[in-house]
Parts: sequence; C-alpha cells; structure tokens
Amino acid sequence: MLKKIFYILWILVLGFLIIFGLKNGSYKTFISSMENRSFDIRQSYISSIGLREHNKNIVIVAIDDASYEYILEKYGEWPLDRSVYAKLTDYIESQSPKSIAFDLMFVKSVKSNANSDKALVDIFKKYNNVYTAMNLDNQEVDLRKPAILPEKLALNINNKSKKVDTKYYEFTNCRNILDGILNSTKNIGMINVLRGDDGVLRQMPLFLNYNGKYYPQLALKVALNSLGLNDKKDFEINKKGELILGDKKIPVNKDGSITLNWYGETETFEHIPLYKLIKAMEGDKNYKFDFKDKIVYFGATVSSLSDIKTVPVDRVYPGVEVQATYVNNILDNNLIKKISPAWNIAIIMILAILTIAIVLTLDSMPVIIGSVITIYFVYLISAYYFMIHQNLWLEVVSPVIFIIFAFIITVIVKYLIKSRDFDKQYKLATTDGLTELYNHRYFQEQMQMFCSNAKRYESVFSLIILDIDFFKKFNDNFGHQSGDAVLRQVAFTLKKNVRSSDIVCRYGGEEMSIILPNAKENEAVSIAQKLCNIIASQKFKLSNNRESNVTISLGVATYGQTDGTEPAEIIESADKRLYNAKENGRNRVN
Ligand code: GH3
Ligand code: MG
Ligand code: MG
Repeated sequence: MLKKIFYILWILVLGFLIIFGLKNGSYKTFISSMENRSFDIRQSYISSIGLREHNKNIVIVAIDDASYEYILEKYGEWPLDRSVYAKLTDYIESQSPKSIAFDLMFVKSVKSNANSDKALVDIFKKYNNVYTAMNLDNQEVDLRKPAILPEKLALNINNKSKKVDTKYYEFTNCRNILDGILNSTKNIGMINVLRGDDGVLRQMPLFLNYNGKYYPQLALKVALNSLGLNDKKDFEINKKGELILGDKKIPVNKDGSITLNWYGETETFEHIPLYKLIKAMEGDKNYKFDFKDKIVYFGATVSSLSDIKTVPVDRVYPGVEVQATYVNNILDNNLIKKISPAWNIAIIMILAILTIAIVLTLDSMPVIIGSVITIYFVYLISAYYFMIHQNLWLEVVSPVIFIIFAFIITVIVKYLIKSRDFDKQYKLATTDGLTELYNHRYFQEQMQMFCSNAKRYESVFSLIILDIDFFKKFNDNFGHQSGDAVLRQVAFTLKKNVRSSDIVCRYGGEEMSIILPNAKENEAVSIAQKLCNIIASQKFKLSNNRESNVTISLGVATYGQTDGTEPAEIIESADKRLYNAKENGRNRVN
C-alpha cells in the first residue's frame, strides 16, 4: 500500500513539474484568471452579507449626479471653480478633521482662473493635513514634458525581501498639476490604479517608480497621517515581504502592489453630496455635518465621470471609494495576503494524498467520488473561512485541477494493478507448477467446452492421452529429481511440436493430454505418431550432467459416434487406446 502511494506520488510530482513548469503558458493564464474569479466570488459574498466592518471615521464628499447638476446651475460651469474647494476646505478645517484628501487632479486648464488657483494653493500652504493627487503614466515624452517632481515627494525603500520587486511599475511621464500646489506641499500622492487582464481592479500600487525614485500612493499618504507617520521617508520591506508601518506589517505582493479587501458594494462609506456641503457652508440649517477627527475624501461619483468601472464586488465603482477602501485596509491592517507558492504546494500535496488514499482504500466508485468531492468542498469552505478571518487568499483552482489529476492517475493505476493481479491469479489457477502445462481442472473445463461447441457447430476435435513408459523404473534408476527434469522437458517438447491453438495439459502424474481442435481422427493419429517419434529420438538432460532416453505411449480418441460425444466417454476411449499401446509393446500410438 505504502509502495503504491509512493509510486503514485512520484507520477504526481512529475505531472506537477510538467503542468507548473509551463511558465507563462496559456494554461497558467487560465489558472490565474480562474483563481481571480474565485477571489471575486469570495469577496462579493463576504461584502454582500456585510461581514466586514468599515471605519466610520472615513467619509466621502461625493460629486454625484445631483451635485453636478447643482454646480452647473449655480456656477454655470464645470469644473467647479477652485476657490469653492478652498472655501469648503476652510469650512471643514474649522471642525478639526483628521485629514482632507482630494481624489481630484488640479491640472493647469484653459478654464483656470489665476485668483481661484491661488486661493487653492494657499489652502495647501495653510493646512498640513490636506492632500491631493497626481498621476504617473507612460505617454510619449514629446506630447507632454515630464515634470521634475520636488525632492520632498520622493521616499526611500529598503527592500530586504527577495520576493518583492519594487521596480515592477515604472513610469516615464506624469500629468502636471498646478506648479503652485506642486511646490507648496509634500502632501501629494499618486492615484494610479492596476487592473487585471480582465479589467477588474483587485490590486493597487504602494509605491511607483519614476525617474529612478519612489513616489507613494495618495491613500498610503493619507493612512500614514492617521497612523502618526506623516514625516516618514524611509520604508522597510522585511524578508517576509511585509511593509513595516509602525507596529503594522502590510503584506506586499511580488509586483510591489497590495491586494484590497472590500467592505461592501458601492457607497460602503458615508457619502455626503457636495451640494449639501456647499449649502451647509452657506448656513442652510437643513444640512449639518460633523467632521471632527474624520478622514474626508473628495471625489467624483457622478456616473459620467466615474473612472473605475469594475472591482470584484461591483460593476461601477468610483475611484474615491477605492481610495477610501485602501486607507481603511491599511488602518485595519486587513489587506489580503496571498498564500505563498510553497504553502500552496504543501496543501496540494495533502489533498492529493487524501485523494489517492480514498481511491485506493474504498471500493465503490460513487462513494469514492462522493468522498473526494466532500474533501474539496471542506477545503473550499476553509478557503472562504481563511479569507474572512485571516484575510488570507488560499488558492482553490490549482488544488482542484490537481485533485482531478491525482484522481484520474490513481484510478488508472488501481485498475492496472487489479487487472494484473487477476491475470496472475487466473494463471495460477489453471497452470501446473512443475511442467507449466495447463492443469487437470483446466483440461476438464476445456473438454466440456469443446464438446458443447462441437455439438452446436457440428465441428470436430481429437484428444491424445499419453503416458511415459516405465517411469517408475526411471525414477528408481535416476532419482526423482531427474524424473521431474524429464517431465518438464517432455512437456516443453510437446508444446513446441503442436500448434499454438492445441491445448497441452498435465493429466496427472506422468500422464499428459492434448486437445486438438478441428483435428479428425487420421490427423490426430499422425500428430501423435510424430510426437512419439520426436520424444523417442530426443536426449533428455538429467541431473549431474547425465543424459537418457524415454519413450511415451499414446492413445487417440475423436469426438463423434465411435468414441462418444461426452468428455468422460472421449477420455475413457483415449485411455483405453493408451492401455492398448502399452499392451502392444509401448513407444507407440493406438
Ligand atoms: P508404464 O506406464 O510403462 O506402464 O510404467 P510406469 O512405471 O510408468 O507405470 P505408471 O505409469 O503406473 O507409474 C507412474 C509413475 O510415475 C509413478 C511415479 O513414480 C512416477 N511419477 C508420477 N508423477 C511423477 C512426478 O511428478 N515426478 C516424478 N519424478 N515421477 C512421477
Ligand atoms: Mg502412469
Ligand atoms: Mg508410465
């Protein structure tokens, strides 16, 4: 049993190397896209039943459809005049928020108004907890002059992990924002997003590489502020691939990104429509908000401006909500950590061994299939549990492929072993050990079968029974060992000199029988005569290098009216003829 398991495991390891050795093949892409889908299903389910608590201190000031209409009506234009953002910031700051972050890019535009822009720049000079965004990209350089970003925006990474590649995301250009803002604050973060091949946003960058320097995500900067790490410039990624942020350890993916853990579908966080905030600022008593100690994120949710079309939990998701989720994930330290390849292989091996053991020990196929499915089902539930409670992403697709693989291989091996055992048993049950001829039982069975076939198809067959002459004496002269050697050689000679369709059996003692299918009496007699001559002329090797001759006497009977149509009659007839041959002087056919 242990040997069998070892054998099958060896095949599996080989299969594993073949399957997973196909780097970047379409197979691998297929596995990873299926795995991503399984992640989406887990995340959507957890989100839809509201298992994860989000931070109540994160609020979103949403430029929603209603606010967009309001702005167009009240100010007559879009984008909103920047002095309004400046006034709103002053208003919120009067209530001592933790921070204010704009998921908006204040670029130089034709509509820019110098006074309004200056009012906004002054806000960044006035408050050190107000953040804004910019975006890196790889646009052609001659289309847009790449900005030289101020030294204070860059940070240093001490990467001690061999697994994490911090230079994976490199950019050559950026969208310029107002010089005034760029030069007056260090509170600027990037809002680049990462989409999978299927367009779904699951990961976000931590740091982006631009002109050989690292620049942080806006959400990371906002989170650092809440963690009291505003002035941190040097970051360490430890050997295990975790970013150290104070007492928190953030799991980093091998491409330097993080995997978000979603709190729910759209509008997870508290949304305040921008127009209500404007009204509150203008003294409308119907609207009152409390911003004390809150993280206030400004961003567009208006459907025509919503830039993030797909995340695992919803089809249309505003970028600002992604940013809020990111900040919340870092504060709660519940970012998703994907299981390491080594652990994944260990899990696959355990599941494969269980599958092999089930297939080998159980007999009924439905029970085997049921048990294997149950094991996988239990594993699926565990994977779901680990994502809820440990924020751990256990792979479920590669294990199922391997379980199926292990199942098929083991079933095939089991079947082969079984059929080989059966062949062995059958041979053992029908063969004589000394001569390797068919045994007496098989002879009787065959006689029965030949008689019924001959009856049904009106065919014919003959039987030869032969006996070694004076064998008692031979044994006495040369010993039993030599007698056995002669028996084996006689058997071999008989087999060699008849057709492969003829059935040579050991009838008992030193008597042998040969069934000759389709042989009429005269044919059978001439075959018997031929065998008689061959044996008589053969030198038999005995023990101690001696040699000797033996002769045989043969009796022939044929299926039919004379000798009978039942096995017992035919055998008796052949036996009688053999007796006659002995009586007439032996070494002859009768
Ligand atoms: P004959 O047939 O010519 O009348 O004389 P015989 O001496 O051969 O007489 P019989 O056939 O009655 O004797 C059978 C002998 O064959 C008895 C036994 O010593 C010997 N014998 C039977 N089976 C075996 C065997 O498996 N090995 C050996 N060495 N001898 C066997
Ligand atoms: Mg005999
Ligand atoms: Mg004999």
